[in-house]
Amino acid sequence: MRRIGFFKLSLIVLAIYLFLCLPSDAGLLFLSGGDKAPKFKFEHHFQENIDKLIAGSLESSIVWDRLAEMTDTFGNRLVGSDALEKSIDWIIGKVKGDGLSVTTEEVVVDYWERNEESLYFLSPTRGRVKLHMLGLGRSPATPVDKDGINHGITAEIIVVTSKEELEQLGAAGELKGRVVLYNKPFEAYSTDVIYRSMGATWAQEHGAVAVLVRSVAPLSLQTAHTGNAYPASIPAASISIEDAQLLARVLNRHQQDPKQFPDWPKVHLTMNAQTTLNSKKSRNIVVELKGRELPEEVVVVGGHIDSWDVGSGAIDDGAGCFIAWETVRQLSRLDKPPRRTVRAVFWTSEENGAAGGRVYAANHPETNTTRHVFAFESDYGVFDPYGINFTPGRRAQEGPHRFNSYEYLTAAGEHFLGSRKDLGYYGAGSFVLPNGIGADIAPLCKQGVACAQFRPADPFPLPYSTSPYYIKKNDVKSESRELGHRRHHHDGEDAQDPPRRPVDSGYFYYHHTEADTMGAFTPDQVKNSAAVMAVWTFIAAESRVEF
Ligand SMILES: [Zn+2]
Repeated sequence: MRRIGFFKLSLIVLAIYLFLCLPSDAGLLFLSGGDKAPKFKFEHHFQENIDKLIAGSLESSIVWDRLAEMTDTFGNRLVGSDALEKSIDWIIGKVKGDGLSVTTEEVVVDYWERNEESLYFLSPTRGRVKLHMLGLGRSPATPVDKDGINHGITAEIIVVTSKEELEQLGAAGELKGRVVLYNKPFEAYSTDVIYRSMGATWAQEHGAVAVLVRSVAPLSLQTAHTGNAYPASIPAASISIEDAQLLARVLNRHQQDPKQFPDWPKVHLTMNAQTTLNSKKSRNIVVELKGRELPEEVVVVGGHIDSWDVGSGAIDDGAGCFIAWETVRQLSRLDKPPRRTVRAVFWTSEENGAAGGRVYAANHPETNTTRHVFAFESDYGVFDPYGINFTPGRRAQEGPHRFNSYEYLTAAGEHFLGSRKDLGYYGAGSFVLPNGIGADIAPLCKQGVACAQFRPADPFPLPYSTSPYYIKKNDVKSESRELGHRRHHHDGEDAQDPPRRPVDSGYFYYHHTEADTMGAFTPDQVKNSAAVMAVWTFIAAESRVEF
């Protein structure tokens, strides 16, 4: 008789233990066996329901049509504006028309209004040159005189490309009385956005009178990208990449050769922005489908319904909200609702401080009878679907029933979406990447709820081999491994299709600009994304596992 080694025996005992730990109808099985055997096996009814969800999502362009109607009718949805509240009322009416249950939650919000603003380069050779600017959210106005008149600020500019440079020039007294221009080239949104949010706070410490921030984007086509700035006492505005480069070049010429270029470049900035704290009421929208077996366990899926006051807020984040709404609508059309309750939430006031997400989490604390098991947000734009980003929850990582939910979702993505060709490209929507925490669900993630973000494929990827962004990114290895793996599968099929990348740069062509309109994406992309979001939400709501 062959003897079984101690190591092998331990593995078998462990496998049996893990199997016994799971609820008998968990929706999966652990299988032992060779490398080829799947680690998870899904209940038969998963496939049938997923096919229905996808077919239902692809059958009409209702999501795109509704979003177009709403944004064409009401425009963008700055928090505190009438347009936002009218849009919310419009959505509630349509959700009721779908026969779905809908409620709202009041959120008290600050109201920041842009009002009139302008920026001129006072060129010694061309006179006043109008620059492409947008004041940053929560920025104050330029100062008024004793009669209350706002003449704007005229001052010399000083250019920095990093915080270190700012501190050095600040210590040397070079920022005093000047307008600081942060001219940081785009590497990654996550690392560069701090110049927009904190630039004014940093610069005011050194006596600067205002800040200009180069648009946080790989490309701007003379379009400024606004965004939130941590409240400071000096005004802050974003400018197009081209205008930032213009000012930097002119200053550099002066500094290199002051004899030939004797004038230090100046700008004239006027802003009339106003903030009134806690002055308005807005609402989160909650669309709910009760679970058939575990109604006290909630899977939340959503986006934020407010936007900036430019463009139409279609991609940030109207589309995210609307595919979440469609997810619940499609789930409600199945023969039976999923085991867990699914809630589509449209959070308000994400852009200027994420109050909606905080209010939602505070209104729905974990109790003995009800809790969130999975929070899923879409706020990366909606293009061709790529997959999800995922952060496991506390219950799956700790305690007696530890469960590798990341592996489970990876297997589910490959199984249900990995070989489909009808969602934009081969395997669209099937990939699982790390880091699922998003702005609106962050308060839930902090409490230990498993968190995921819908991730589209990049419509304009930076070149993989040359971009400093991809070289520096932490997860580049896992992402490229994943891609290589799928490309291998791909070879025999539609080998012509170029490999896709998760969105990192293309979304930021549109983000917080006048170009955030229905023109940024197609009806097919919205259909495919709604289908993929419905599939992932179904997996989260139907699988009786801890995520
Ligand atoms: Zn957003």
